[in-house]
Amino acid sequence: MKIQVLFVSFQMISPRGIAAFTTHHSPIQPTFGLSSQIHHQHRQHLFHSDIHSEQDLTFSLSLSTPLARSSYTLTTLKSRKDGIDSTNYDDECDVLILGSGQAARAVGALLSSDENLDVVVADSNYDKEWVPNYGLWKHEYEAIKEMFASPPFQRELKDDCIDRTWENTDCYFGGSFDIPVESRYRLNTAYCRIDKNGLKRNLSPEGSDSSESWYRVIKANHISSATSINLYSPANSLVHDEHGSTIQLIKNPNSDDSTTLTVRAKIIVDCTGHESELVLKDSNIKSIPPGYQIAYGALVSIDESDLSDKTHVGPYDKEAMTLFDYRTDHFDDDPDALAKATSAPTFMYAMPLKDNLIFFEETSLVARPAMSFQECKDRYLKRMKHLGIKPIELLEEEFCYIPMGGPLPAKDQRIIGYGGAAAMSHPSTGYTMARTMMGAGPVAKAIMDGLNKPNVNLDKVAADAYNAIWAPDNIRQRDFAVFGGEFLMKQNVEGLRGFFDGFFRIPLELWAGFLAGWPGLPYNENHETWFGRLSFGLRFVINLKLPIAVDMATSIATYTIFETLALAQSVTPFLGKPDSYEYVDLPKEQGDVAAKKEAMNMIENSELNKSAVETPTQTSTIDIENNDEIVNNVEA
Ligand SMILES: Cc1cc2nc3c(=O)[nH]c(=O)nc-3n(C[C@H](O)[C@H](O)[C@H](O)COP(=O)(O)OP(=O)(O)OC[C@H]3O[C@@H](n4cnc5c(N)ncnc54)[C@H](O)[C@@H]3O)c2cc1C
Repeated sequence: MKIQVLFVSFQMISPRGIAAFTTHHSPIQPTFGLSSQIHHQHRQHLFHSDIHSEQDLTFSLSLSTPLARSSYTLTTLKSRKDGIDSTNYDDECDVLILGSGQAARAVGALLSSDENLDVVVADSNYDKEWVPNYGLWKHEYEAIKEMFASPPFQRELKDDCIDRTWENTDCYFGGSFDIPVESRYRLNTAYCRIDKNGLKRNLSPEGSDSSESWYRVIKANHISSATSINLYSPANSLVHDEHGSTIQLIKNPNSDDSTTLTVRAKIIVDCTGHESELVLKDSNIKSIPPGYQIAYGALVSIDESDLSDKTHVGPYDKEAMTLFDYRTDHFDDDPDALAKATSAPTFMYAMPLKDNLIFFEETSLVARPAMSFQECKDRYLKRMKHLGIKPIELLEEEFCYIPMGGPLPAKDQRIIGYGGAAAMSHPSTGYTMARTMMGAGPVAKAIMDGLNKPNVNLDKVAADAYNAIWAPDNIRQRDFAVFGGEFLMKQNVEGLRGFFDGFFRIPLELWAGFLAGWPGLPYNENHETWFGRLSFGLRFVINLKLPIAVDMATSIATYTIFETLALAQSVTPFLGKPDSYEYVDLPKEQGDVAAKKEAMNMIENSELNKSAVETPTQTSTIDIENNDEIVNNVEA
């Protein structure tokens, strides 16, 4: 028996994790109108201003830095600029990717297709097996495969990335709205289970035929934690400057003989997962707190010795995957358990693999606070017993924990967050994998383009990468799904059965577009405009059973009045777009240039100046460009 535990996701249990979460989540200002303009004006790029003097540098750093750290940083920056320290690095690269999960390797695989770029992936867990058993729609996987294979990347995802494909996907919504308990709703839409080891191989140099042009690997972790935008603790563990970033990595972080490495990179991409210590969340924009998907998964072999029909596992057809079984008839003999399962619903997700092997996952779609894992496991066991399914061997256990929604990354960060670190999970479904695989293309392209330019501006490269992830239109689409997550969270099991029964009865291109929720994935084009989302919403609501449609209409009104205007901004043209991550160039001219010019003219034409030609006593000049007044006293 193999028990797989999720290591990264539980960081939030540590005091440091909780502190980081609560600090970065503090509310906040209204999202729209004046406040967003104010927000723009306060955006700072600490390192890409033309630093002319030590005085300029001290000023810019002192904006948000405690004195002790700023003076230390100043020394470091100065020496980097002068090129004094370059021999002290243990490694240098163009792009350093932190983490080696699916987001990290997707970006690494694509970026390293550019032969001009030296890409390094750093993670002490690099060799560990991946935990999640990813599932996604076949049409999404095919689109991702095509993007990977197309120029400029030309990375092949081979057939061993997929473990199994089912041509049909089944749902069970019986028990409410006169839907019989045994009734099965079949979607003629194919679903895939990723072979996690196969995908990992395909996204790694060791899995490719030629490893020469791939990324390099350092088996070490970063140790830094962001304290404010572009500043980190412990001091000097991560420092940015105009030419790059210097970061300390630790080999064997959990042992006594840990070794520290100093790595220099032009740009760093943080793919360390949902609870990143480096990517700060945006506290300038009001956001709804995240919800959590919790699931207990078990890969088991089933006792089929007394079964004559081996085409099914209990009610589940082995030729289809079961996306949702929301029935609760296994609690009919236990009113307390039934009440609990009604008010805090879970569903069964079942993937028949081969022969008598099947992967079951009892899942709480989204809840705040999160559902207990033990509750999911108990419900799984009870359901198995009720369905007459007899597991004989437990081969793997999976504890699925996915934060959904919540704030997006803060603007103006030099570290590029990606994957879980950039809050990329679908806010109403938890799907992440297809989004991070597809999104890796535009992000890699933005980084490639930026770094290949002469006189590269690294703040702009980071901003362009963020804009490739969260362009205003994509944020607007996400806001629609955030409302979806909030609505689903407050439904009891009847509400969820009715919701999904209506959802899957609208045309494929509409429901699949909502589930994709990411540019480049098939059918997403139907959700990319406010009009598309509005049309989807109206089409969906008229398909809903009356009580759910009424609840939906009431929820839209209360959400918009009491929570945020983000949904209204998402489905109408009237409220503009969310703030962009685009690079905002700092103004070259400071102060009132006209007034300063006038003063200069007056000084030039001053009577004092004229008399000074005969008997020079004092000259005054204003250096407009540097905004410095220089007064020279000249001895007569
Ligand atoms: C059990 C489970 C099942 C799931 N199933 C699905 C699914 O079926 N479909 C779907 O779309 N999504 C699914 N998800 C969601 C999805 O897997 C995650 O959201 C996704 O893995 C996030 O990818 P990531 O690469 O950003 O982060 P992660 O996969 O969490 O990877 C983070 C990496 O960062 C490394 N790391 C952490 N700290 C450091 C450090 N200090 N320095 C260096 N490296 C560090 C870790 O070792 C790890 O390798 C599932 C999630 C879980 C947990």
